[in-house]
Amino acid sequence: MPLYGGIEAGGTKFVCAVGTGPQDIRAEVRFPTTTPQETLQRAVDFFRAQEALLGEPLTAVGVASFGPVDLIPDSPTYGFITSTPKPGWRNVDVVGLLRYALGIPVGFDTDVNGAALAEGLWGAAQGLDTFIYLTIGTGIGGGGMVGGNLIHGLLHPEMGHLRIPHDRERDPFEGCCPYHGDCLEGLASGPALEARWGVRAEHLPPDHPAWDLEAEYLALALHNLVCVLSPQRVILGGGVMKQEHLFPRIRTRLRSLLNGYIPVPALLTQEIETYVVPPALGDRAGVLGALALAMRVPTG
Ligand code: ADP
Ligand code: ZN
Repeated sequence: MPLYGGIEAGGTKFVCAVGTGPQDIRAEVRFPTTTPQETLQRAVDFFRAQEALLGEPLTAVGVASFGPVDLIPDSPTYGFITSTPKPGWRNVDVVGLLRYALGIPVGFDTDVNGAALAEGLWGAAQGLDTFIYLTIGTGIGGGGMVGGNLIHGLLHPEMGHLRIPHDRERDPFEGCCPYHGDCLEGLASGPALEARWGVRAEHLPPDHPAWDLEAEYLALALHNLVCVLSPQRVILGGGVMKQEHLFPRIRTRLRSLLNGYIPVPALLTQEIETYVVPPALGDRAGVLGALALAMRVPTG
């Protein structure tokens, strides 16, 4: 069985793993995201050390990256992290640097497409060909598959920046997206919760009014996503979704917003409990996604 490497490239930390799948992770390491040179070098050093230790070469590596990233195969900046506000990381040729240093094919996609791929192969979306994965954390991002293909296009989806109704009487908070103010991310990300309520999201008790509002925004976004993509399932991950009580609130609100319009049991009945779900791979979706991207890249 060929051995693969995966890099979950996050804005605050990198997680690298070597293995063949979720049941066979041979080694894993995490370190903070510093400069591109230093951070990517640490990843390369880890893979080299593992190859030596295991006595086996890696067949390919995959990178599930924070973005925006260039995924257009014939673009001169394919494989770059492009217009990120993260200092030092603008226009960094991640794929090129890794391919040069390791001499093997490099799979590359967004962190959320990677997580979606892993959930599709090994987690909560097994057997489905059209589904989405949203992460609600420091930002809000979404990826997924349509008809068995990871969603790409002009660039890649930016589901976190959906515009949703914002009742300023109920919620005077103006939103914190630097580009749009009160887009979904501006209203419902972890930092939005903290800015609105003055405490970190993890310190808001379950009976705090923050959570009904949060469920409202996420249900509105899901309403739109369900109408556009017709996903067979929706996976919600990220730090904010550690608040498990959000799931029943979001499901109930999504059902009432859709108002019976889409005639499938998953949206009409209790079956919605299997429709809006947490990631089965939990916090491992990211790095397993990177590994899955490596397994899909053409080799040889
Ligand atoms: P990142 O998005 O940076 O990869 P996370 O998905 O962990 O990382 O998201 C971090 C955000 O999630 C922070 O804004 C934090 O306040 C929030 N968060 C983390 N844990 C919890 C929790 N248990 N409950 C609510 N919010 C949380
Ligand atoms: Zn925005």
